[in-house]
Amino acid sequence: MSDCVFCKIVKNEVSASIVYHDEQVTAFRDIHPVAPTHILIVPNKHIHSVSGLTTEDEALAGHLLTVAGRLASQEGIAQSGYRIITNTGAHGGQTVFHLHVHLIGGQPMRHPMG
Ligand code: AMP
Ligand code: ZN
Repeated sequence: MSDCVFCKIVKNEVSASIVYHDEQVTAFRDIHPVAPTHILIVPNKHIHSVSGLTTEDEALAGHLLTVAGRLASQEGIAQSGYRIITNTGAHGGQTVFHLHVHLIGGQPMRHPMG
C-alpha cells in the first residue's frame, strides 16, 4: 500500500518514535497520545483491519497481543493496568486503515462501552 502512512513508518519512510520492531510487527508512539503511554502495534504487512485477517494470520494476530503485553511491562504499566483497543471500520472509529492495536495506560480509563 504505497499511500499508507503505517506502511511508510514500517519501512522508515515516515519518521515515528519506534519502540519495537521485529520481522512481523512494529510498535511506535501515537502522534496524538490520549494517555501517558499510547503506543500503536502494527503488522509489518498491510492488513486493512481485523476484518482483513485470515487463518494464515493467526500467529501474527497473537504476536500483536504478546508484544503489546511485553511493551506494557517495559512501560511500567503492567501492574496498574492498561487498555488494548483495535478500532475497526467506520462505526468502530477507525481512521487509519492499516490494522493496529492501541496500548493505552498510565492513568485510569473511563468506562469503555460509551
Ligand atoms: P484509529 O483511529 O484507531 O484508526 O487510530 C489511528 C491512530 O493513529 C490515531 O490515534 C492517530 O493519532 C495515530 N496516527 C496517525 N498518524 C500517525 C503517525 N504518523 N504517527 C503516529 N501515530 C499516528
Ligand atoms: Zn499499510
